[in-house]
Amino acid sequence: MASRGVTYRTEVWSDWCPGCGDFGIVAAMTKAFQELGLDPANTVVVSGIGCSSKTPHFINMNGVHTIHGRGIAFATGIKLANPRLTVIVNGGDGDMLGIGVAHFVALGRRNIDMTVIIHDNQVYGLTKGQASPTLRRGEKTKSLPAPNIQDAVNPIALAIASGYTFVARGYSLWVDHLKELIKQAIQHKGAAVIDVLQPCVTYNDIYTAEFYKGRLYKLEDDPNWDPVVRDPSEEDEKIARALEKSKEWGNRIPVGVFYVNPLKDTYEDRIAQRNPYYNREAPPAFEEIAGEDGKPIIGPDEFKRLFAGYIVKAKRS
Ligand code: SF4
Repeated sequence: MASRGVTYRTEVWSDWCPGCGDFGIVAAMTKAFQELGLDPANTVVVSGIGCSSKTPHFINMNGVHTIHGRGIAFATGIKLANPRLTVIVNGGDGDMLGIGVAHFVALGRRNIDMTVIIHDNQVYGLTKGQASPTLRRGEKTKSLPAPNIQDAVNPIALAIASGYTFVARGYSLWVDHLKELIKQAIQHKGAAVIDVLQPCVTYNDIYTAEFYKGRLYKLEDDPNWDPVVRDPSEEDEKIARALEKSKEWGNRIPVGVFYVNPLKDTYEDRIAQRNPYYNREAPPAFEEIAGEDGKPIIGPDEFKRLFAGYIVKAKRS
């Protein structure tokens, strides 16, 4: 459903380098939001630190520009406090898979219903192009004094191993294709991640638009490609196929949806099962905790009522 009358792009001036892949990602996001008719008052875009983490400034919605590697941690608090919100996290490959990798893995294990968009350009652009976790060993971009001596993380394989239930790869210059992936990720109920390949025109002279041209192909063009788990018995096979595909790199690089498992319960479901007071119709963010004078209105009894489900009683031996 397209949303009329909402302008999703702000007028904030961008200091991204001309030709940066970040522009394509913001264009795909705003198009996706428009077509989904997302309500800016009930959507939050969260980011960490890096060139790509400036994204919330350019999107006319609630936005939180947080600290390095902690976008997912902030987003987790936001989503659990108010599960009614649509939450999207943007960050670079260094932010998400370097300093923030523990949060990245934790989100997969929890399967919280939110979308992560990785701006993957294989370098730390904001700090002058050091090798990021997705730059392959032996590669030397123009910003490195010598070839990289660390092996690369495979974001697709790591996401699947961590438990993400929607895993895709896009390309920042294929805006309409990326828009469709973003729409699917937002509509998926569970932790969704899109690894977006994007040129850093200033520091990465290996993975340029020229490099990707003619190498990228769409998984969905293969009529036999079906990444969706429709029965628990299919899970192992679908994971194995997705992992095999994720290794493909070089002359042919796949983009599209690698893996979807709509059968797994979310963390919100798990909390609600454990704690009957975790009510998504009246979530914690809507609890009144202070009166008009700003003084707390929750006493010990109310506190116990809210948190009783979390109290674990020790068993006597
Ligand atoms: Fe984009 Fe690279 Fe410039 Fe950063 S340094 S804005 S990632 S082109």
